[in-house]
Amino acid sequence: MQRTKLSTKSILPLTCSRSGTCCFGKAVMLNPWELIRFSKEKKITSREFRDLYCDFGGIQLRFNGKPDKKGQPACSQYINNFGCSVHQGRPLACRLYPLGRQIQFNKAHYIYQGDKFPCLNDCSEVLQLPKLTVEEYIKGQETADFEKAQDEYLLVMQNIADIGFELLLDSGLAESGDTKTLAVWREMGKELPELLAERIGKEWIDCLMIPNINDDVENPITFAKKHNDLLVLKAQEKFGSLQTLQELHEASVLIIGIALHLSRGLGADTQGISEHWIEIAKSHGALE
Ligand code: SF4
Repeated sequence: MQRTKLSTKSILPLTCSRSGTCCFGKAVMLNPWELIRFSKEKKITSREFRDLYCDFGGIQLRFNGKPDKKGQPACSQYINNFGCSVHQGRPLACRLYPLGRQIQFNKAHYIYQGDKFPCLNDCSEVLQLPKLTVEEYIKGQETADFEKAQDEYLLVMQNIADIGFELLLDSGLAESGDTKTLAVWREMGKELPELLAERIGKEWIDCLMIPNINDDVENPITFAKKHNDLLVLKAQEKFGSLQTLQELHEASVLIIGIALHLSRGLGADTQGISEHWIEIAKSHGALE
């Protein structure tokens, strides 16, 4: 789909009309910090929020509410004639909409998808409202902490993936002539989220999406760093004394699967990332 890159000075019909048309039929992805922010707003545990309102182990908000005129289901957090029930805790995707955020060469850009500005398709009344620059809109939506969480979790994703690389490249597995591991990395990049979540299993999904971190929730960077340490520690405990090539293969697949699942929760191109990682592994001697 066509993507239009915007400058922060671009002026667009960005004022939210609050008619709520953007809360129907969307795929709203979540990172672990966003999930816990939601649960705090809702005054329930992150596990309860995840189990009641999310899909695929917590990486996607469930849309199972009353459908609109087009038959598109409402977000589980949407209340008829009221709007979002968790407005203060809403995630980055909702704060930015109809914009998206793309990272290229370590720099973030705001974009919109399609050949026409999305609000003009679904919500033409925004034309009656005052226009804003992208910068003004983003500021009004208080995206700063949510953008920091997104950026920090991209680092967590890379750190987890690095463990998968070590298990393949530094353990003797790649040197043994193994070809199975990269084949499964590729398969997982294309796998449906429900199948990847099932492959990863409940124990690791819980550690990924509802970590036991109760302090520092207000600070997304500290939270994500603590989460990173928990994941790395768990991997060290589980994979520190593997013996056989089969065990190394399974561990590398599992860890890369977890990193790919997180990438999907970050709204990234999971298939593109898996292909990129495969090319890097091959350039370091792994076979396919
Ligand atoms: S979380 Fe709130 S703003 Fe986001 S889609 Fe759901 S109801 Fe709409």
